[in-house]
This record gives sequence, structure tokens and C-alpha cells, in this order.
Amino acid sequence: MYIVQIASECAPVIKAGGLGDVVYGLSREIDTRDHTVEVVLPKYDCMRYDHVWGMHKAYENLYVPWNGGAVHCSVDCGWVHGQLCFFIEPHSAESFFNRGKYYGEWDDQIRFAFFSKAALEFLLKSGKRPDVIHCHDWQTGLVPVMLFEIYKYHGMTTQRVCYTIHNFKHQGVWSADVLSQVGLNRESYYSSPDRLGDNNNAGSINFMKGGIVYANYVNTVSPHHAWEARFSDIGCGLQPTLEVHQDKFGGILNGLSYDVWNPETDSQLPANYGIADFENKERNKKALRERLLLEANDKPIVAFIGRLDQQKGVHQVHHGLYYSLANDAQFVLLGSASEPGLNDWFWHEKTHLNENPDCHLEIGYNEELAHLIYAAADIMIVPSNYEPCGLTQIISLKYGTVPVVRGVGGLVNTIFDVNYDTNKQPAERNGFVFFENDSFALESALGRALRLYHQKPEDFAILAKRGMDCDYSWKHPGDQYVGVYEHIRHK
Ligand code: ADP
Repeated sequence: MYIVQIASECAPVIKAGGLGDVVYGLSREIDTRDHTVEVVLPKYDCMRYDHVWGMHKAYENLYVPWNGGAVHCSVDCGWVHGQLCFFIEPHSAESFFNRGKYYGEWDDQIRFAFFSKAALEFLLKSGKRPDVIHCHDWQTGLVPVMLFEIYKYHGMTTQRVCYTIHNFKHQGVWSADVLSQVGLNRESYYSSPDRLGDNNNAGSINFMKGGIVYANYVNTVSPHHAWEARFSDIGCGLQPTLEVHQDKFGGILNGLSYDVWNPETDSQLPANYGIADFENKERNKKALRERLLLEANDKPIVAFIGRLDQQKGVHQVHHGLYYSLANDAQFVLLGSASEPGLNDWFWHEKTHLNENPDCHLEIGYNEELAHLIYAAADIMIVPSNYEPCGLTQIISLKYGTVPVVRGVGGLVNTIFDVNYDTNKQPAERNGFVFFENDSFALESALGRALRLYHQKPEDFAILAKRGMDCDYSWKHPGDQYVGVYEHIRHK
């Protein structure tokens, strides 16, 4: 099969979060199964050009119909750690992708509507006719709409679309004017409640809803989150749409690229280690302490890595920090906040704790430091409010860092409580889970983890090594996605 992924991220060249990891990891997995995979991305000014090999022009004069006229674009192509990627660069006054950041601009909906249009126009003009187009999140929700309402009539008749939702919170809700900008000219037809009309805001359209209505298959990134999206307010207003389209909706757990995330081979670590030489993990702990000026003592390191966002349970992170310090543990945080209030809050904490020898808060995005923290920490907390899949807990398992998580979304499908999960055999239990969203619940789970570390270090090490043995590779999700592609291709 020939698959084209259209996405706003692909790690490591463009990564804001898990979406980037997934687009890269899934592409590589499908590619190794003798299918052809190509990825179409925006050419952002701020992407990591050092991760692209052999960049060259792939298409010179691409005129993308836009707003009644056309925008002149060029398309570059290159290999991102073995994955062939195409980067679309518009040459227009709006400078859609030259904003110094990937997201968070006032006109994001317009930027990604343009990108979706340009990606399809590129496929059309360059003669690319994939069996399946796989697109992701609200940024590319208009792709199936335009494919089946416009491009089908230009000869793209056999293409089918798989649409993956990584976060229901951000749906791309915008004024219906954008429709005519991309050439979907019958505004009232597309804005109707059974098409793109937003379920909560009359007069607005919803890109993600368009993706759900028009795609041939829709999934979110874990089975439990698929259930939550349909039957709880986690669906953020899209529950009725998912109900109507339930026959083509499911949950497929994300995998992890073990060629990128593997402590035995990770070139970003001071010391590699595996289950057999688990004691070498200690050398990373020493290196982290030296780097962050933490005291060398026999306390465990509790860590948090992730976006400082309400989704990630920032109040619980804050509580976990002080609980760790009060319970004979060190705490390391690596995170960045896009909301100014949260950013100020964590900067305040950082200043307040500056002299504490057991604590370090690193506010910002740092891929290399993230690798070291995964390798050095003993415990990772993931106290999310909601979590479609979550990669931090899966990466932590591989690095022998015991996860303490809240039982929501994909965390339910990946972490099984060592004391209480009676659905799993003891040998399959790999972490600590709490359910209520309050500080007592967090304390009970984190407290159990810390007590095990302090009182039964051998048992704690067994648990950590058991996590390293879990298989959350792309193999099984890869089988499932190939099954989906085969299924929709023959429709
Ligand atoms: P989300 O996609 O909701 O942000 P995930 O858990 O699915 O969360 O994926 C987060 C990914 O981003 C992981 O690979 C994690 O290591 C990485 N990450 C998050 N914050 C940072 C940061 N500040 N610095 C480096 N890596 C980060």
C-alpha cells in the first residue's frame, strides 16, 4: 500500500508533543512492513533543520487556490531519520509558517486550513495517488472534507482517509468564512449540523467534526479514551457526532519508537543500561544531579516531564513536588507552559525553591534533558486530568522509571497498579495508579511508591525492571493501523 500522512508535526524535526512522536513512529513502522509511507508537513521557520538529510526542491511552482486567487508555494523534500518528508512553503505576505512557533497564533485555523488545502493540491499536481491518506487532529480535519467535496472531482477518486484524534480539547472552531477561502463555496451546506456546523456554537464550523463526518475511519489514541470521548464530557461536545459515526470510530493505543527511546542504545545518555545491567542507571542519576546541582544523597528522584497545562494536572504536579520533598525524595520538573498564568506560577515556584538542594524546575522544552531525566529518575508522576494516550509513562517504563499515574485515558490501558489491579497477574503489574482527582489520591499512590523505594528497594528494582520488559512498541498498533488501511481501501 501507499500511505501519505498529512500532519502538523513529525518528530524530531517538528515536535510540540506526542503527535510528533506518533507521526514519525507509525510512519517508520508501516514503512518497515514494505508499504510506502510519505509525510507532508508545513515548512516552519523554527523546525529543527538539523534533523533533515538531503533537503532539496521537490516541486517548484505549486499554485494553491486560496480565497478566490492562488498562493505560490514550493515544496522541499528530505529524509528525517530515514523517513521521506515533504515540506510545504507558501510565499505569501501572511507568512503562515514563519512565525517562530508551531501553534498559538491568532490565525491558526486559517494557517492550517491553508496547509490542508496545499497538501491536497500538492498530491493532485505531483501525481501522487496514495491508497490511504492518514491525517491527524483538528489541523488537518478539512483534508477529508476537501478530498471528497473537491479533489474527488479532479481525479482523486480512489483515495481513502484515516483520521486520528490525539486531543479532543482543540477542535479548530472558527467562523464559516474560512470555507470559501479553501474553495468549499456552499457555506450553508457545509455549516449544517450534520456536516461541519459546531455542536455548541451556532454559526461556527468545526474542523475536527469535519474530519469525523467525512473520513472513512476515525480513531483516538487509546481504547479507554475512545470510550471516554463517546460517553463523557471528554468528547468536548463531539459526543453526538461520535454517536452518529460510531460504526467507523475506535481506539488504537499509540506505540513507542524503541529505536529512539531505548536506554540500551540512547546516544543522549551518559551511561547506557538495560535489564541485565540495571545498576548503570545510577550513573545517569549521578550525572543529572551534577548537571542540575542536586545534592548527592540516597533519596529517590521523582520527576515530571510534560506540558504545564491544565490537561496534565498541574495542581497535582505542584502538590506532588512538595509531597516528595516532605517525604525524603528529590523532585525534578521539565515542562513548558503556553498559558502566561501557569508560566508565571511555575517560575515563581522555581525562584522560591532555588536554594533547595533536593529540587530543580527546568521551565522550557529540552529534548536532550528529557532523555537524561527519564534515565535518571526513579519515579515519574503523570497526574493528568485527561490523557488521550500519554507517552511519558510508556517512555518511563522503558527507562526503568516507575510510573505513578492517574487512571484516565491511555494511562488505564498501559499502567496497572502493583497492589490493587486484580484484573492483571502480579507479573503484569507495572506501576501505581490513583483515580480521584485530589491530593489525597495522589499522596496515597506516590506514598506507596516512595515507601516501596525506601523500605523494600529490591522489590522496587524488580518493579522497575518489569516495566522495562513491557512491550509498547509499534508492532501491535502497526498491525491495527494496517488492518484499518486495508479495510477502508477496499470500500
Ligand atoms: P502531549 O502530546 O499531550 O504533550 P504525550 O505524553 O503524549 O503528551 O507526549 C509528550 C512528549 O513530549 C513526550 O515525548 C515527552 O517526553 C515530550 N515532552 C513534553 N514536554 C517536554 C519538555 N518540556 N521538554 C522535552 N520533551 C518534552
